[in-house]
Amino acid sequence: MHGTATPQLEMTHHMGRVIGRVVGDNAGPTLICIGSIHGNEPAGITALQRVFAQLDNEQLISHGTLLGIAGNLAAIAQNRRYVDEDLNRIWTKDRIDSFHSGDTDSSQQVTEDLEVEAILREIEQAAAETRGDLFLVDLHTTSGRSPPFGLVADTLRNRSFALRFPVPIILGLEEHLDGTFLEYFNNRGYVTLGFEGGQHDDATSVDLLESCIWMGLSVLNMLRNPDCALRIQLARNKLSEVSRPFPRALEVRYRHQVDPDDGFAMDPGFAGFQMVRAGNVLAHDRSGKLTAAEDSRVLLPLYQSQGADGYFLMREFSTFWLTVSATLRYMRLDSVLHWLPGVARSPDSPHTLVINRRVARWLALQVFHLLGYRRRRMDGETLIMTRRPE
Ligand SMILES: [Zn+2]
Repeated sequence: MHGTATPQLEMTHHMGRVIGRVVGDNAGPTLICIGSIHGNEPAGITALQRVFAQLDNEQLISHGTLLGIAGNLAAIAQNRRYVDEDLNRIWTKDRIDSFHSGDTDSSQQVTEDLEVEAILREIEQAAAETRGDLFLVDLHTTSGRSPPFGLVADTLRNRSFALRFPVPIILGLEEHLDGTFLEYFNNRGYVTLGFEGGQHDDATSVDLLESCIWMGLSVLNMLRNPDCALRIQLARNKLSEVSRPFPRALEVRYRHQVDPDDGFAMDPGFAGFQMVRAGNVLAHDRSGKLTAAEDSRVLLPLYQSQGADGYFLMREFSTFWLTVSATLRYMRLDSVLHWLPGVARSPDSPHTLVINRRVARWLALQVFHLLGYRRRRMDGETLIMTRRPE
């Protein structure tokens, strides 16, 4: 594979679901990497093909299992984000339970349901055979320019895994999205990481995603050392070099939802992580100008026709607070939050709080965030927040 070719040109024409599987001699974790869950993001698959080509030539994996799988095969064939529904928004528990119980109505199924079933089969097979913990890395690219970054569903295990990668990590995106692939498996006990490698058709994105896979293998101690020391050093350097100008940790504060008839158009020239001031015009739609509510950084500006996220805004989150919140969670302070006035545990789930904002108005949302709770929905004066099981 040559670094100068665009990701599209490197694509194999007849691709199967499994890109590669390597089983080390010794027990260890199972690392599952998925590429192209969005069909117009071929770089993830190309990066996996490169890694497996090197693993085929040399016996580099000593511990655990690496499995590489392809995401939305039907959409990849058409170079579209999705065919009928976004494959990264339909992993809801109800939908998956109906696959498991076999009571799906095939006349109601869309293209992506078949993709979900096939992916689920591979992952559950790998889980049944694992000789250690399960790790899931979801490889993506973006329509706008962007440095690489990790997306973390905020549990301590996810965080400590993500912080081993020398790229900015972003918390709180999942608060704004439902039915993502990683959310589903996170709730089933997998350690998960979303990884964005840069722009869709930039050859560098493949290099950065490939570096991410090598870093994952290294962080999980799956590689035969010292054969891989140089390879890992190169991967680390590649990621840290492009990440240096950016903050280490950020938190998503706002998502601009796009509906098909909004006439949404991002103003030209925005890149991921670009700083904006309160009042800056970011985009236009039928209602007129869309502006930033506060000084912040732009994330995932939408420069393609498919997709329901116009842009996100985020702010730096001091690594000091990462340490504080980890300490508070180890102290299990989260388990006494429902003692506070206006805060009650949901009868439906031990991980859900029901907060009366009239009584608990003095409690900043940030306190709940620090303790691992994420906003689920607002219902009048009532705020529902859920914590991921640690
Ligand atoms: Zn994507």
